[in-house]
Amino acid sequence: NKNPQTGIMGAQKPHAICIPFPAQGHINPMLKLAKLLHDEGDFHVTFVNTEYNHRRLLKARGANALDGLPTFRFETIPDGLPPSETVDATQDIPSLCDSTTTTCLAPFKKLIARLNEAGDAPPVSCIVSDGVMSFTLDAAAELGLPEVLFWTTSACGFYAYTQFEKIKIMGYAPLKGTWMLYYSNITYSLYIHDRLNQRISRHGGGRNPRHERHTLERHPSFIRTTDPDDFMLRFISQETTRAKRASAIILNTFDALEQDVLEALSAFLPPTYAVGPLHLLETGLTDRLDRLGSNLWKEEPECLNWLDSQEPGSVVYVNFGSITVMTPGQLTEFAWGLANSGQCFLWVIRPDLVSGDNAVLEPEFLEETRGRGRMASWCPQERVLRHPAVGGFLTHSGWNSTLESVSNGVPMICWPFFAEQQTNCRYCCNQWGVGKEIGGDVKRDEVEKQVRSLMVGEEGEGMRRRAAEWKKLAAEAAKGASRRNLRRVIDEVLLGKV
Ligand code: UDP
Repeated sequence: NKNPQTGIMGAQKPHAICIPFPAQGHINPMLKLAKLLHDEGDFHVTFVNTEYNHRRLLKARGANALDGLPTFRFETIPDGLPPSETVDATQDIPSLCDSTTTTCLAPFKKLIARLNEAGDAPPVSCIVSDGVMSFTLDAAAELGLPEVLFWTTSACGFYAYTQFEKIKIMGYAPLKGTWMLYYSNITYSLYIHDRLNQRISRHGGGRNPRHERHTLERHPSFIRTTDPDDFMLRFISQETTRAKRASAIILNTFDALEQDVLEALSAFLPPTYAVGPLHLLETGLTDRLDRLGSNLWKEEPECLNWLDSQEPGSVVYVNFGSITVMTPGQLTEFAWGLANSGQCFLWVIRPDLVSGDNAVLEPEFLEETRGRGRMASWCPQERVLRHPAVGGFLTHSGWNSTLESVSNGVPMICWPFFAEQQTNCRYCCNQWGVGKEIGGDVKRDEVEKQVRSLMVGEEGEGMRRRAAEWKKLAAEAAKGASRRNLRRVIDEVLLGKV
């Protein structure tokens, strides 16, 4: 009695091999999903990190940190990059995209063969892979396994990526010259609703709120290139085109937040399921998996004690995620903007946040903000954003950060850095009403003004009210629609029951 689609024998557990793209913002949600598959779907799980990140996780979390359960194990494959002298730095993203695409298929297939031969676990019955690791689809096809692609972006960011190929064909990208880069805030309307003939045109998007107008500037940063051979432009087009081969696609978002875009996506992609916010779904899991974390830097939980001593809603939390790099000048502008706002803040400055030398903050700034400013180099962000003392978030608009913020009712100041962060920022500000953008060329006066407005102004109050509404809807989704969607992916796709 073998299921013909999954190859699972009788009462044997299904075995999911979960492989994230090797960066923090991808490993975090994939680990949550893997835990849910283990506990909710009763899967045997193999979680595959790169050797580089495996070493980092052990360093940050302790030598036994990844000793899973007999039914939840960690394995590694090489990332294909040359050995690096540092062990604690964010790897170059385009280089990683290139090396994983060109080198990881063979070790991945070898790993699956080894797991199947070892005989101490059920045979691998399905693949759950990051959306930008689409080489795994070749392994799935060869082995006849179902594969779910997990795009860890927002639905709106993913949608924008799926338009790259079309934008290229229409001749808008690569941009024709630097003048186009300069003028790329011209509104080329991008209608997000497929059935309404999505296209880019120079005309306005009309008054229908179901149409979201994107300027090229608000499109994921990779579109803003003049290089006809630009790697990321090619890479994203290739990965979104290959996504059509997946058995299903899942996104860490929820229906109520991105309904229109999700509908538009399902018009031309395999079945697409919103299963987020994953951090809310995983709260019901057993303790056994709780200690398996995925932070690549050592967390400083002491900042939570400091938050305990602050008034409710009084602290602006500042964190630009795991990849953003800023200049020393930008760091100084943020610092003095925060100081001059007069507000309390918790600022996480990653060791490699500032280009060139290590981040240096002026002694005058430290003196000025003594007692109301707290610095850390990495924090348990989900717990920080849940803390009642936090009243606002100055963020780079990475999707995990955005979702963690929205689902905790925390409004944002957005300073998008790259990838689809520009699109997330636009949706935060224009669609969901929970964000305010700060100019790329950051100036201390603007930071000061925006931080004050966010924390004690009327505009901030309105954003906070709307964020509270999204928080309620996120909690409802975690109990309702997203959980049902997850169950459907498990039953209909990964177990092939339907
Ligand atoms: N994060 C964290 N502590 C920090 C900074 C970030 O735990 O000090 C986590 C954060 O909760 C999120 C992830 O790292 O889950 C960052 O992902 P995101 O998509 O926001 O940004 P990226 O790092 O990919 O740019």
